[in-house]
Amino acid sequence: MVFGKAAVIGVGLIGGSFGLALKAAGLCGRVVGAGRSAANLELAVARGAIDAHETGAAAAVRGADLVLVASPVAQFEKIFLEIGPALRSDAIVMDAGSTKRDVVAAARKGLGARIARFVPAHPIAGAENSGAGAASAELFRDRRLVLTPLNENSKEDVETVSALWSALGARVSRMTPEEHDGVFAAVSHLPHLLAYALVSDIAGRPDAAQLFGYAAGGFRDFTRIASSHPEMWRDICMANSDQLLREVARFSGELEKVRNLLETENAPALEKLFADARAARQKWLDGGWRNGETR
Ligand code: NAD
Repeated sequence: MVFGKAAVIGVGLIGGSFGLALKAAGLCGRVVGAGRSAANLELAVARGAIDAHETGAAAAVRGADLVLVASPVAQFEKIFLEIGPALRSDAIVMDAGSTKRDVVAAARKGLGARIARFVPAHPIAGAENSGAGAASAELFRDRRLVLTPLNENSKEDVETVSALWSALGARVSRMTPEEHDGVFAAVSHLPHLLAYALVSDIAGRPDAAQLFGYAAGGFRDFTRIASSHPEMWRDICMANSDQLLREVARFSGELEKVRNLLETENAPALEKLFADARAARQKWLDGGWRNGETR
């Protein structure tokens, strides 16, 4: 499983980390990038995440036997349409998008008959930092990676992609795109929406300076992810809006429940909810909820 040339379309945190990790693992001869910002691509070369960059995605994938698309997800359809005709017939194409139903639809539209060699992937290895400057060869180590294989994929390609991400340190598991988007709406997309909304609410108040002046560790921890890339999160929320709306409705119900406990001064029930939540979080920190992993 050693590749001759890998192309990374979108050399930011994820794409840049993929290039660094691929090279550190000795799994690729040459990594070529393409992107939207020349300065970021130059930085990616300087940091050794890619060996060179091309002006367009089609030029970057020419001759590549491995392709990773790692731009914000709303760009995927355009990128797939662009690279489709330039792909080598034996090239394996992957993505790193945080949503999957829209990405698969974009790939079907853009890649046409080449869809069989597209294996969708989502590394659960994010950070609130972005760009090639934030990339790290260790980003995927001991992080989960979800594959959502297509019916058209060969067993061999799925195995190759799974082995590749495992070699970069990831713990690979599989889901359907529908299952994936439901799960991540609950545990990733909703928390990001809430963090952005809380900061937006505080910032919009007349006494914002006083509120931020006294905000401390709890506020910092709760809102860390509101420092994430706005375009990336706009695209994720819009792509998964149906599942996210379901989660917003569910969470509104939970807030309503907590509001009722406060209104009725039901201290024991409030304490029980807090204690159960703390125990569930501790179990999660201890790895007690793990499932679906292949290693
Ligand atoms: P990033 O902003 O660090 O990098 C994205 C890069 O894509 C940028 O360098 C940008 O210039 C480039 N780009 C934008 N439009 C492009 C286009 N049309 N063609 C080529 N390049 C283009 O973002 P990131 O955190 O690396 O995220 C990349 C992808 O990975 C997204 O799809 C995101 O949903 C997914 N992802 C992100 C995280 C995370 O937490 N950061 C985690 C897992 C998956």
